[in-house]
Amino acid sequence: MASKHRVHLNKDDIKKKLIQEDLLAWYNHSKRDLPWRHTKDPYAIWISEIMLQQTQVQTVIPYYERFLARFPNPQVLASSDLEEVLNYWAGLGYYSRARNLHAAAKMIVEKYNGVFPASRDEILALPGIGRYTVGAILSIALNQNEPILDGNVIRVLSRIYMISGDPAAVEVKEALWGLSHELIPNGYAGDFNQAMMELGACICTPLDPECNRCPVETVCLARQAGLQEEYPQLKKRPAIQRVREVAAVIEDKGLYLIAKRPPEGLWGGLWEFPRGRCRDGENEEDALIRIVNETLGVEIRIESPMTVIKHSVMHYSITLTAYHAMIVTGSPDTLSYSELRWISLDDIAKTPFSAPQAKLLKMLLKNKIQGSLSF
Ligand code: SF4
Repeated sequence: MASKHRVHLNKDDIKKKLIQEDLLAWYNHSKRDLPWRHTKDPYAIWISEIMLQQTQVQTVIPYYERFLARFPNPQVLASSDLEEVLNYWAGLGYYSRARNLHAAAKMIVEKYNGVFPASRDEILALPGIGRYTVGAILSIALNQNEPILDGNVIRVLSRIYMISGDPAAVEVKEALWGLSHELIPNGYAGDFNQAMMELGACICTPLDPECNRCPVETVCLARQAGLQEEYPQLKKRPAIQRVREVAAVIEDKGLYLIAKRPPEGLWGGLWEFPRGRCRDGENEEDALIRIVNETLGVEIRIESPMTVIKHSVMHYSITLTAYHAMIVTGSPDTLSYSELRWISLDDIAKTPFSAPQAKLLKMLLKNKIQGSLSF
């Protein structure tokens, strides 16, 4: 006889159940073996999540392993020098992440005796932690029913449910957060959240998603409509702007002048060869003489061009030309920088540089070995 208490699932419940079961089953046998998947330590999960922001998994792996080996817990991180922390971050970009990790570690030691907090509000109060990161730490490390919403999850949910509108718009984003929360199967938050991100990273990619390998293909509305690539309905990004920059590799008796950027803003706290942006129509050498005068208060003589480095920051495509130069008048002052140093090439290698300038430094060091300063 049928039970009086039999549960009748409506269509939405059935779809939800299918997504939960199929996604979890797929994740359990297909997930990538990543180092942060071998731990439930909230500190290590936090480090991995911060590194993974704006950075690809394969790039993060060696950084994560080196960072954890050197700074295995909040106490060690908090008691280390910020410059050393930045050095371990050099090349990952978005250095405010490293500064925030360092500041947050100090807070964990001071307020929570070095133990990573386990409450949502306490974690959210740490520098550099937003709604996504708190959800990731609580669900992955502590298996709490907390949702996550990153670019991968936005794409997967927008396609499965054919969500209209720009996900950056508040009401669309809130709807996505709500869905992300609602879908979590009780007791499986960590695996389910990671499964959603994994699906977005490996199968439901921005272009050419592999729907025929997808575990939720049968319930995906965009797939059924053949409109996978139309979702999410992202607003167009601003056009790429081309920018010219120049840098001065100023040398005096075998020492090089490097400058530390102010703590706030892009590449804050990192070192660089004095650098700046050319004005429209301005000759590069004139621009460099002007920039060095404005930022260090000295006159330089340009000896020779050294190299050209191309890099991108947000919607800027930057061409940086470096020149070998000498000071002819004045002594350098920290007009635009927080610190200046005359340094040998041997010591420079131990100093944290911004990513594009690290490339310049690498060339300089390589050429020093070959006995020439020209490129
Ligand atoms: Fe993405 Fe295709 Fe899977 Fe839908 S069926 S979630 S579009 S990979």
